[in-house]
Amino acid sequence: MSEICSTCGLPKELCVCETIAKESQKITAALEKRKFGKPYTVIVGIDEKEIDIKDLARKLKEKFACGGTAKDGKIELQGNHVTKVRQALVSLGFAPETIDVK
Ligand SMILES: [Zn+2]
Repeated sequence: MSEICSTCGLPKELCVCETIAKESQKITAALEKRKFGKPYTVIVGIDEKEIDIKDLARKLKEKFACGGTAKDGKIELQGNHVTKVRQALVSLGFAPETIDVK
């Protein structure tokens, strides 16, 4: 038995909710400096109801081989990845025009 999407009621393999959702986000990625001048790449604007941000954060951490957290609709990645973050998000299915890199 396959998992059923709670949004459209279709089995997960037929469901396109997340695919559609990925094209309609308004993502902003920016570099933030924390204590001791440590850089963090912070990604905001992803709708947690539509996108599994924990899973997304895990994939980004894998790609950049860095640490990070995901909570309250915000992904924080250790290190400066602003030059690569757009490409990484696009490769995960997000539309380039929905990603604003500061
Ligand atoms: Zn669905």
